Amino acid sequence: QSQEVSQARIDYHVALQALQEHGTRMVCTGKMHTDRICRFDYLCYCSEAEEFVFFHSNSSVMLPNLGSRRFQPALLDLSSVEDHNTQYFNFLELPAAALKFMPKPVFVPDVTLILNRFNPDNLMHVFHDDLLPAFYTMKQYSDLDDEARLVFMEGWGEGPHFDLYRLLSSKQPLLKEQLRNFGKLMCFTKSYVGLSKMTTWYQYGFVQPQGPKANILVSGNEIRQFARALMEKMNISRVDEAEKDGGSAEDEKDKEKKDEYIVVFSRSATRLILNEAELIMALAQEFQMRVVTVSLEEQSFPSIIQVISGASMLVSMHGAQLITSLFLPRGAAVVELFPFAVNPEQYTPYKTLASLPGMDLHYVSWRNTKEENTVTHPDRPWEQGGIVHLEKDEQERILASKDVPRHLCCRNPEWLFRIYQDTLVDIPSFLEVLREAMKTKPNLKKAKAASTVHPGRVREPQCQTSVQTSNEAKLTVSWQIPWNLKYLKVREVKYEVWIQEQGENTYMPYILPQQNYTFSENIKPFTTYLVWVRCIFNKNLLGPFADVLMCRT
Ligand code: UDP
Repeated sequence: QSQEVSQARIDYHVALQALQEHGTRMVCTGKMHTDRICRFDYLCYCSEAEEFVFFHSNSSVMLPNLGSRRFQPALLDLSSVEDHNTQYFNFLELPAAALKFMPKPVFVPDVTLILNRFNPDNLMHVFHDDLLPAFYTMKQYSDLDDEARLVFMEGWGEGPHFDLYRLLSSKQPLLKEQLRNFGKLMCFTKSYVGLSKMTTWYQYGFVQPQGPKANILVSGNEIRQFARALMEKMNISRVDEAEKDGGSAEDEKDKEKKDEYIVVFSRSATRLILNEAELIMALAQEFQMRVVTVSLEEQSFPSIIQVISGASMLVSMHGAQLITSLFLPRGAAVVELFPFAVNPEQYTPYKTLASLPGMDLHYVSWRNTKEENTVTHPDRPWEQGGIVHLEKDEQERILASKDVPRHLCCRNPEWLFRIYQDTLVDIPSFLEVLREAMKTKPNLKKAKAASTVHPGRVREPQCQTSVQTSNEAKLTVSWQIPWNLKYLKVREVKYEVWIQEQGENTYMPYILPQQNYTFSENIKPFTTYLVWVRCIFNKNLLGPFADVLMCRT
């Protein structure tokens, strides 16, 4: 049936002839397998061999042409998880002449994005590893538009969140197992292979204990634009933030207050909050707000997002459902609860998300420190934290420990044992943590006013020098404002000047409000100074340094 679809839209003989004559063409970005995305014409897939095939002909192109370095360890990562050895992509090679002896290829006319989902059963992984990276990979290549076809090669079934993947394009994504239906040999007319890692913020602890990525390249802005696009696809309309902000009359403020509510995201299978009703009552009383609960077991995903997108606070046990905080409105609070013996500082995917610049969420964690309030499950299977399969000594060590030591992913039994505990939340300590945190709630209006426009270079930097006595000299540095400043309203403009004596490896930094200054302290006669000047907006938006000045006294 798919064959008919493709035949209707491309001329089969033209395509076949193109493949035979030109073979496969590949051009990639990225110097390393970990940052590479490749674009192919006529990349083929042999479902019998479960291998991609590159057909060589006189006009095929393979760039980078790595020779056998292509296998050291791979051409590229098929998932957004860096350098994971189960997620590598490569292809087999054949001369185009071999096509004569092979089954007739079926051509896929759609522009295709080929990738691996990392863990489609887990909502955090779905968003962080697949949806966000796929969304922005599609933004990077304009022919990966709403008509693009996604192909998931990790080999899993649809999984519980397939509807979310469907939102990425208007075409049904294909699973690896479905490729068989296209016959023994299928060829993608145009395809991209691999995912951008630009939006990921967390590493799961395969080579070092889990934590934020070393070099985060995404800000709240991109996360929120993605969230907005997804909400539009889900037909979720949310009270516009501008509308909420609008109006200054007191009664309107009251009305707004009435609409505020807290969401408790509950889990009903594992890692339970044992006194959820009590927690809800306490929250309602403390904040004088409505409290609603949501759970993945009871509601559709869109209806959950509808609720979360208007909430003032999201409270939940640590767990994948907390990824939904990316749908919270600016200024909302994320309150993450941790079971006994689990250190919140060591498991921070949601803290890191909430703390991304421009995400404008207020993150708070609470940890159960009372052992009598935890309920353990030693008899469960190991993947749900059971420990009865372990040696007695090891079981006793784990039971006696009050803090899970740092560990690698993914099967550390002590970690699993502790993270799958149920918790009776101690209300007084919980409210104490909340009250303390809310004291320092950042002023959103202020944060909003601070724009993210960086200063340009200061212009026409100059220095003048004079020698006063045999051991006194003066150094006057002046400059003009950055070019973009005249178009901006900036609350505070300051300049930073670094003065370094040539040959020394330290420098003296100065922060100045004006556009010139005469330095006389620590300035020696007959000495060369290197001077750098840059502009700073609002204390922390740094501009680039102007070209270094060489100033001889
Ligand atoms: N999950 C859920 N309710 C539960 C337990 C799990 O909805 O009681 C969901 C959870 O949000 C995640 C998936 O099931 O999407 C796997 O949960 P798991 O506990 O394995 O992972 P974690 O939440 O620790 O990332």
